Amino acid sequence: MQYVELPAGERVPALGQGTWHMGERRAERKAEVAALQAGLDQGLTLIDTAEMYGDGGAEEVVGKAITGRRDEVFLVSKVFPHNASRRGVAAACERSLRRLGTDRIDLYLLHWRGGASLGEAVAGFQDLQQAGKIRHWGVSNLDLADLEELWEVPGGRAVATNQLLYHLGERGIEWEIQPWLRQRAIPVMAYCPFGQGALLRHQELRAFAERHGITPAQAALAWLLDQGDVIAIPKTAHRERVAENRGALDIRLTEEQRAELEGLFPPPASRRPLAIV
Ligand code: NDP
Repeated sequence: MQYVELPAGERVPALGQGTWHMGERRAERKAEVAALQAGLDQGLTLIDTAEMYGDGGAEEVVGKAITGRRDEVFLVSKVFPHNASRRGVAAACERSLRRLGTDRIDLYLLHWRGGASLGEAVAGFQDLQQAGKIRHWGVSNLDLADLEELWEVPGGRAVATNQLLYHLGERGIEWEIQPWLRQRAIPVMAYCPFGQGALLRHQELRAFAERHGITPAQAALAWLLDQGDVIAIPKTAHRERVAENRGALDIRLTEEQRAELEGLFPPPASRRPLAIV
């Protein structure tokens, strides 16, 4: 496994597992649990979920997958902005813990800014940390203005990550958000590393992958992992795809391959509003 260091010094797996759209259909739960467990068996022990996914159903799927092996897992979940008042965050966390079947979340994120007061959300996160219910907290989908506001909130500088839309086809964060975070040694957690699957159908990426004897999914992940301080959380509900995705950890991109990908998927040439899903 490759690891990324959080600002507090803890190392977490650079490649994890996403769970959006899991827990939505009863008939698929078994396969979803099996896929997550296959991931755990292969070292993909960071699992990302949220109270939003499947209306709590994804957290239940995760709870099932980690039964009896909670200590192997670095568990990430997220609170809705409308639940992120000081009191609301405590209640939301209790509900998530119940669905997850655990007594603690390792990293708890504000899912997006919405109408949340950052001061209240941070105070709520601090209460939860003191109570031992969460270990770290962070944010998601925060643009630079939000991050600068967070930085001035009491306790706001303890933010562990900003989870952002980031993949070869969507590199907007490289303009100013990623440099801001890098300066403060705060890792990016890259969501939708496959652009929800669309990137894997990109003709040029497919051709690149074929030229180099890897799959498009592996190319997309290897590019993210190559950066050293990015955590990628691909989602698959198919256990046979877990091994393929995990295979990205064995790939070391060469200078030539990096340059090829830069040419196919250029970095942003100007400031753009933060892209989100
Ligand atoms: P991804 O970019 O991870 O793509 C997932 C899609 O790719 C699914 O359709 C999946 O299908 C398919 N797929 C996975 N592996 C392969 C493979 N090897 N070959 C072909 N297809 C593959 O999209 P997500 O939106 O799921 O993003 C990842 C995670 O990030 C989410 O699950 C969630 O945890 C998080 N997220 C966070 C957001 C936020 O606002 N903070 C927003 C969006 C996502 P299948 O399952 O059928 O294999």
